[in-house]
Amino acid sequence: MIRSITALQEGLMQIVFPHVCDICGNVLPRNAQYVCIECLNTHFEEANPNQSIASSDSLLPEYVHAQHALWKFDKGGFLQDLMHKLKYQRLTGVGEDLGKALGRSLKKNSHFDFERNWIQIPVPLHPRKERKRGFNQARSVGAGIESILRIPAIDRGAVTRIKNTKTQTGYSLEKRRDNVYGAFNVLEPGKIQGKFCLVVDDVFTTGATSFELSSKLHSAGAEKIFIVTIAQA
Ligand SMILES: [Zn+2]
Repeated sequence: MIRSITALQEGLMQIVFPHVCDICGNVLPRNAQYVCIECLNTHFEEANPNQSIASSDSLLPEYVHAQHALWKFDKGGFLQDLMHKLKYQRLTGVGEDLGKALGRSLKKNSHFDFERNWIQIPVPLHPRKERKRGFNQARSVGAGIESILRIPAIDRGAVTRIKNTKTQTGYSLEKRRDNVYGAFNVLEPGKIQGKFCLVVDDVFTTGATSFELSSKLHSAGAEKIFIVTIAQA
């Protein structure tokens, strides 16, 4: 009963104050929270149109099976604006819309074996940073992926960030590697062992962070590791 009243209220709110697309201003359908599908399909450049094993030029470590980013980062463009809203304005709906687009794009990637038993590992934030930010943007992206691919995210606390690293903007690859070395800890290896792990983050730059996390997952016995992000910097 309570649920149906809430749904009714939501429906009325939608009539009185319809959600509109942040880019084109058209009224959004119920399954989109922030950006309409037309805008998602037309305003961004695919980062991996040929479904290569990696969308970046980075050499993948041997324990990383593949790496896929949805779109190329566009400095000063629509994507940068959306990523900024996701990260700093706590608009988790943006992350979910982008995560859904990432999920749909991953379905087309021939290196991704959809039939396997996958689990998502959203790159954890240090607890202090997550408290300050109010949420983990990788988990919002993961929620969108889950709604398309039905791949659940690992329980909070099973993999943690033990080092509160400084922002890596402007760092060289070597410095980024040093910065994130030992940053993650797998507290529940039983949840990783033998699993196909989808490492989820917002941006892939040099891969230093996701590679460091992947090496820990590999040591914990992950069967396969696939890194996915919204943006390719
Ligand atoms: Zn739109």
